[in-house]
Amino acid sequence: MGPTLRLEIRKTMQNAVLILGGFEDKDFPVDVSVCPSSLQIETPDGCETLSLPPEIKLVPSSCRYVQHVAGEGLHIRLQVHASRDTETSPSLKEILGIQRRYTFECQACGEPIIRDQQFLRVLPLPSENWSSLVEEWCCHPDPFANRSCLPKVNDCFLGETFFLVNRANLLDHPGETNEKSSVPHSADGNVSKSTENTKVFCKRCKVILGETLSSDALKYFITEVMVRPSCEKFKTMSRTRFVESTVVQLLMELSASKSTFRYCIQGQDGKLFLLLWLLNVDTLLVESRTRTGGVNCLFSEDTCFPSSSSLDVSNVVRVLYSSPTESNHNELVDKWMNQTGAHTLIFPSKTCLELLLLLSLNNAALPHSLRSMNNWQVAYLKI
Ligand SMILES: [Zn+2]
Repeated sequence: MGPTLRLEIRKTMQNAVLILGGFEDKDFPVDVSVCPSSLQIETPDGCETLSLPPEIKLVPSSCRYVQHVAGEGLHIRLQVHASRDTETSPSLKEILGIQRRYTFECQACGEPIIRDQQFLRVLPLPSENWSSLVEEWCCHPDPFANRSCLPKVNDCFLGETFFLVNRANLLDHPGETNEKSSVPHSADGNVSKSTENTKVFCKRCKVILGETLSSDALKYFITEVMVRPSCEKFKTMSRTRFVESTVVQLLMELSASKSTFRYCIQGQDGKLFLLLWLLNVDTLLVESRTRTGGVNCLFSEDTCFPSSSSLDVSNVVRVLYSSPTESNHNELVDKWMNQTGAHTLIFPSKTCLELLLLLSLNNAALPHSLRSMNNWQVAYLKI
């Protein structure tokens, strides 16, 4: 096995932590030379060079805190010049307009839900704090108190983790069960008053796509439905990659618009799955392919293909996460929600588990010394 590299760059600060490993079984002495665009590792067996992507230049004179960590290799802190832009894929709010025709499909199996639909209104729903804001600012009772924001025919209303459409716009009526969700959903805005929700399943693959809010209005989760302009072809994307990109996009959007960095990830039935803390959104990760080719390879289609470069470069967000146990559940949630002002995000329970699995696999693939921070677990999600 050749040398392995992991370079974690904070773009705003232009500094990085370099972990150089893979020579533990080689004969010593090992001589490492840091050059602006490459690293040379010289052992009695020979010399190997790792070339960095052209947009990244190291500052060799800035190497500090060189430390050998058993089982991982050399840890070095240094300055870098990195100029790779963060490109985010467009959010649902950006994709959906009233000028074009759209097709909605089940993300898991591709079954069409809405075909070639042009909406007359695409509007954001009021946030969960809307009612309390109105009460604080108005000198009269909330005029919107008992009014629900439900879509009429050809409307599409956007919430944070879901969108609402009218049943008349569906290809045909989706399968439903009579299973009632007993917990009202705080993130639903005015819609939360509805307690007689029924789950909506995909006709073909039976995954939960959303729920019925009234005889006419249906709610679909953004993590379960693929929305594309009808003129564009269906893009296949692995389930894990879709969940990862949808959640990252949502976190980045919310952190930018509301300055919230702490989140409670809750299932549709009110069960708390995760506390998630968004730390950095400016991280550029350069890794040897051999490192990521293991566990991630099974779930992500884009790390497996060989390429001319042996290094993967990706913009990532760094998160801390914790999965509460039964014993500390209530206490933790209370503290997290009331003292830190965390924001609740609701997804189907299966999707919460998928997200938890994604984070756990990512965490397990990290060098041991990077896996936890103050009792929280660390993970990196691709932007
Ligand atoms: Zn399906």
